[in-house]
Amino acid sequence: MKKINIAIDGYSACGKSSTAKRVAQRLGYIYIDSGAMYRAVTLYLQQHLIDIDNLEGIAQALPQIQIDFRKAGEVFHTFLNGVDVEQEIRQPAVAAQVSEVAAMSNVRRMLVEQQQKMAAQKGVVMEGRDIGSVVMPDAELKFFMTADVDVRTKRRQDELLKKSGKLFPLEELKANLQHRDRIDSTREDSPLTRVPNAIEIDTTHITLEEQIQLICDKAMALIKQAD
Ligand code: C5P
Repeated sequence: MKKINIAIDGYSACGKSSTAKRVAQRLGYIYIDSGAMYRAVTLYLQQHLIDIDNLEGIAQALPQIQIDFRKAGEVFHTFLNGVDVEQEIRQPAVAAQVSEVAAMSNVRRMLVEQQQKMAAQKGVVMEGRDIGSVVMPDAELKFFMTADVDVRTKRRQDELLKKSGKLFPLEELKANLQHRDRIDSTREDSPLTRVPNAIEIDTTHITLEEQIQLICDKAMALIKQAD
């Protein structure tokens, strides 16, 4: 069967990861969480006490950063220089700085190049902010996900509770989502935008299963048509 690429972009905590992961599983495709790569770069800078204003230090650090995804049981984890950092990159300390790091053009250049290599063989579901616009402009199927900010905040709180056992205050989480959305949408280099050929999905009132089904149906229709 012919393979296609699927791009999923959208605001923070709209359910992009959960949806993309399961769509990839059902189609037998590779799932790529591009945000995890920006988070891993941010974690590296924090671990090495490189301030985000230290542009020279960041430029020198980038060639030392190796990110890959490796199978950990049923799922894939993000590895930074050979170490599993899946838990650490999800922590609020990383979320607090990741959008500033992701606004830097040299960081984006490095990660976009890696993401494009991963997508070259097709059969990829990649989610992020610039996937349909910059990383995979030729993707056969593009989606743009949105949701009410309070619903997103609650979902993020539940997700963090499940993953780390900690209950983070809603206000703190909401402020971080809004902060990231603002920087991600207004930065100069590849801002988050809905490309004209992306299908918009508002996930405020639909379930995860409905989101997955909607994307899988569209993908299957396209795959069959291309065969
Ligand atoms: O998807 P996630 O929320 O984990 O992404 C973390 C951050 O990484 C985003 O807020 C954004 O600043 C950045 N990002 C990006 N481009 C992508 C994916 C993520 O700038 N393709």
